[in-house]
Amino acid sequence: MLLYFDAHTHLQNMTDLSAILKRAQAAGVTDFMCLATHEGDWQKVLDIAKTHPNVRAGIGVHPWFLATLEKGWETRMETLLKAHPSLLVGEIGLDKIKADADPTVSSLDHQERVMRVQMDLAARYNRPFHMHCVRAWDRILHILKRNKRPDFFVSHSHHGNATWVPQLIDMGAYLSYSAIFVPSNRQKVQACLKATPLDRLLVESDCPDLAPEPSAIPELVKKMAVVREQDEAVLAHALYENAQRISHGR
Ligand SMILES: [Zn+2]
Repeated sequence: MLLYFDAHTHLQNMTDLSAILKRAQAAGVTDFMCLATHEGDWQKVLDIAKTHPNVRAGIGVHPWFLATLEKGWETRMETLLKAHPSLLVGEIGLDKIKADADPTVSSLDHQERVMRVQMDLAARYNRPFHMHCVRAWDRILHILKRNKRPDFFVSHSHHGNATWVPQLIDMGAYLSYSAIFVPSNRQKVQACLKATPLDRLLVESDCPDLAPEPSAIPELVKKMAVVREQDEAVLAHALYENAQRISHGR
């Protein structure tokens, strides 16, 4: 049986987690990275990782949740990163749709400041971060080039131009693909998927947002194999190994 590592989830937002993990296990999905989206999640993801040894947790503030920021969050985030050497950083990033919808609280300038603080922490403790980018690729590429970075990071639900893939890989990116590559009109995402080197490729459910639960992963890998014209077992094996590596910051 093939084993799968779901590289980006929000298990803290799932109702009936034990049933979901049981269904995942039955489908061969045995390992997970689980990312917080705001400070209210941090203890939740830590608790999930503590009770489930196959879950690697990350803490951070997602660009959709800047309204939740409370004074001193950076210090509290740093304290937790110091206390838990296996803790990742994320989810962080830029989202232009959110900025346009909510310019007073979530302007791109503010999003960038919050992202940079978290990248600095990720760099200081060399923890991979999970990055979200919606319609802000030029700006995020600029930030990635200029800011301090850890050795490796994850571009989650990756898309954008396939021509950017080599520079992202050079900067230490692992590119994680969600179900958005599946529809036949998503040729741009499929081009990224084809351009990604096998040793930097990840697969994710982003549950509960882009797929209802991690048990959807094997079907996604099957479709990925078709797009990449690659043997499914070879692909599945690489995806699992890659996720193990990046979840340990390598
Ligand atoms: Zn996410």
